[in-house]
Amino acid sequence: ELQRSIDIPDIEQFTKFVTEGSQFVITCHMTPDGDALGSSLGLCHILRRMGKSAVVVTPDTPASTLDFLPGFQEIVIASRYPERVRRMLADADTIVCLDFNSLKRIDRLAPMIERCEAAKILIDHHLNPDDFADLTISRPEQSSTCALLFHILWQAGLYDLLDEESATCIYTGMLTDTGNFSYNSNDPDLYSIISLLLAKGLDKDEVYTLAWNTHRAESLRINGYALYRKMQIFPDHQLAVIILDRKELNEFSYVKGDTEGLVNRPLAVPGVTWSVYLRQDEADFVKVSMRSKGRFPVNLVCERLFGGGGHLNAAGGEFTGTAAAALEKIMGALDDFDKHLDPA
Ligand code: 5GP
Ligand code: MN
Repeated sequence: ELQRSIDIPDIEQFTKFVTEGSQFVITCHMTPDGDALGSSLGLCHILRRMGKSAVVVTPDTPASTLDFLPGFQEIVIASRYPERVRRMLADADTIVCLDFNSLKRIDRLAPMIERCEAAKILIDHHLNPDDFADLTISRPEQSSTCALLFHILWQAGLYDLLDEESATCIYTGMLTDTGNFSYNSNDPDLYSIISLLLAKGLDKDEVYTLAWNTHRAESLRINGYALYRKMQIFPDHQLAVIILDRKELNEFSYVKGDTEGLVNRPLAVPGVTWSVYLRQDEADFVKVSMRSKGRFPVNLVCERLFGGGGHLNAAGGEFTGTAAAALEKIMGALDDFDKHLDPA
């Protein structure tokens, strides 16, 4: 049986907003992942089954690898249709923000949402949420926003409204944010939730294939190349680094999403505690991704060096300049980070 882990006043407020609202806009962070889109679309389906008007708005274009999610085609992309989004926000009475803690994470949508008169609900599992919503349900101990959303729906008595489509969306976020249940996945509640989703017709095996094990040939090749040729290991610092420069990305006709998950791979090596992936997206712009095992805080590293953040074991940031310069910045700070390592 699923634990009732959400505070009752939060559930009461959530129920009130959802009952009283009639026009919902749901939004999530830019470059939305399975958890961001899964929670957004999952909630959208449920609100519609309650007879509400609901639409999902993303700051930028979602990766087509998630186009199997029911409702994907109806997403309204703010960077493409800013006027339409402006109108929808003006007409909305309730805005639900999912899977982000800081308004910075929704880019150009941030000022629009801040100014908007509608009631705002934030449901998220990142640390230290910005204080902008009328109701904030922040549970960093939850492995995904989708799992958190399920807890809320369950406690609010809305489980009956789930169907195969919303179950698929919610399961997708649970799967992707735990690496197919390979990290942050020891909470027994996760498996109670899965069993409740299966009862709604979820095809778990199919979601595994679509969300986790479908790749372009070029994607397999670039990941193989990165591990074969580009993974550097610094044993003294229990660190692995992969850099892909622009020329290499072009060679493999890289598209967004092709190296998703690559940063996790070096953690398989015994003695590697943290892993860094530097992707030279533009001549002077690097996307930084980090992962770690145990208590090594990559969120702290990303905050300190790359104006970013995230979770203890998964974080990211950005760098203006070359990947080589970004690496130098990391190397210069290593002595500071070594203190977080367990003795080898
Ligand atoms: P990824 O490495 O998959 O891009 O990101 C992992 C996690 O790090 C995300 O879930 C998010 O919490 C955080 N993250 C990634 N990029 C950024 C960024 O540029 N800024 C902040 N604040 N967090 C980021
Ligand atoms: Mn998430």
